[in-house]
Amino acid sequence: MKNRKYVLALDCGTSSVRAIVFDLFGAPVSCVARSVKLDYPVPGYVEQSAEEIWTRQISAAYEAITSAGISAGEIAAIGITNQRETAIAWDKKTGQPLAPAIVWQCRRTAERCARLAASPEMETVREKTGLVADPYFSATKFEWMMENVPGLRARAERGEVAFGTVDSWLLYRLSGGRSFLTDLSNASRTMLCDIRAGAWDASLCSLFGIPESCLCEIRPSSGLFCETEPDLLGAPIPVCGVAGDQQSALFGHACVDAGELKNTYGTGGFLLMNTGARPKLDRKGGLLSTVAWQRDGKITYALEGSVFVCGAAIQWLRDGLAIIHSSPESEELARSVPDSGGVYLVPAFTGLGAPYWNSAARGAILGITRGTERGHIARAALEALAYQTADVVREMERVTGESVRSLRVDGGAASNDLLMQIQADVLGVPVRRPAYAEITARGAAMLAALGVGAISSPEEFLAGEKTTVFEPQIGDERRREMLDGWHEAVRRVL
Ligand code: ADP
Repeated sequence: MKNRKYVLALDCGTSSVRAIVFDLFGAPVSCVARSVKLDYPVPGYVEQSAEEIWTRQISAAYEAITSAGISAGEIAAIGITNQRETAIAWDKKTGQPLAPAIVWQCRRTAERCARLAASPEMETVREKTGLVADPYFSATKFEWMMENVPGLRARAERGEVAFGTVDSWLLYRLSGGRSFLTDLSNASRTMLCDIRAGAWDASLCSLFGIPESCLCEIRPSSGLFCETEPDLLGAPIPVCGVAGDQQSALFGHACVDAGELKNTYGTGGFLLMNTGARPKLDRKGGLLSTVAWQRDGKITYALEGSVFVCGAAIQWLRDGLAIIHSSPESEELARSVPDSGGVYLVPAFTGLGAPYWNSAARGAILGITRGTERGHIARAALEALAYQTADVVREMERVTGESVRSLRVDGGAASNDLLMQIQADVLGVPVRRPAYAEITARGAAMLAALGVGAISSPEEFLAGEKTTVFEPQIGDERRREMLDGWHEAVRRVL
């Protein structure tokens, strides 16, 4: 154990996979990324090759170890974090995938979900799983495979098929085909798991016609899952941490106490708030309740809200309006004006998510005058990202009855200093941005290091952390004025 001074994080994302070696003080030593192909065979369908996910991930892992200049025997543990909800079916004996992986974004079960939403069962489903009726979640994807892949149903009923999420698939392959495991944070996204019991639910399995014998065993997020097949990386390495990507990011930010939250500003925005030992159900709104992680015998829950269009609004400034050449340029352009000059941009390109949930709404730019310049539009776009985030945060405060004290941030658009300042201003609390960008992978590394006992607290891993803090710089009155203008603009598009 003494010479094992590193942890390896495998971050298996949707468009790319990464492998990062960290030392036990949380410093990154090497990082290798590989792209993964997405297939769109029919409009609305999104698929991937499970085999390609595996080969890309394991080759990235191998190269990360080599380029760190270390040997596999020096790695104390592996942590896995992954795109959530994506459904994979494989043959338990041969390990052959039995269908293309159905990616979380795939809408093929939209009609099924509309029926589910209107059914009397939905209330129990929502109560047990914390989720809403949406094609994202794995259950209707597995159900679709059972109904549409020739011969699959009969084989599943004989217990010959494994239905798993991406974490399970990687654990299976890493273990040389010996492990059928998942962690509770991933299981909580399938719609087959009772999040209070922390276990598969027989009535949910029968609702979707999934034989429970095909599901993987649920384990805590931190602790031993399996050992890797020695030939794969040069020595057997224990896998000791697993969590879904958003939950892993929450952990990677060390949001370990109730009330702490993070936002990831990617193409879309993902907000998660730690709600402690009990799930908080948003009965009237669209926030999800989910398992953040399970460790030390305790389940920690989170509230989750997403913003459909986040960095995508900046991409639209670049590709749609062509007023910038690159996303970072949005900052310089927005700084060319002192404020948005009364312009509001509502980026409801595909409707509005939490807390409005209106799929018919379309975007708008309001408040344009003869004096409006490109800079005002860019500034209004950045402000819109901050307003949408603030709306979800206020919704989380309503559901939990707690006031947020600060917001931790990561993701591509979080590198925009002006956006971060606007965010602190409209929220009225400090925004904390770590210098290190790969927070999702760091969360998995921390779960693994804790799980194997190489560190004893998350803080140990973060001792060297450098953070930029953006403090609110405007008063309550100005804040209210800005938010009132935004809400008026939203009202106009609804
Ligand atoms: P994803 O993982 O969803 O692909 P990333 O975390 O890589 O997303 O972030 C990419 C998004 O961030 C893009 O939508 C891009 O427009 C936006 N982005 C990147 N840099 C900046 C910046 N400096 N200012 C504003 N937006 C940015």
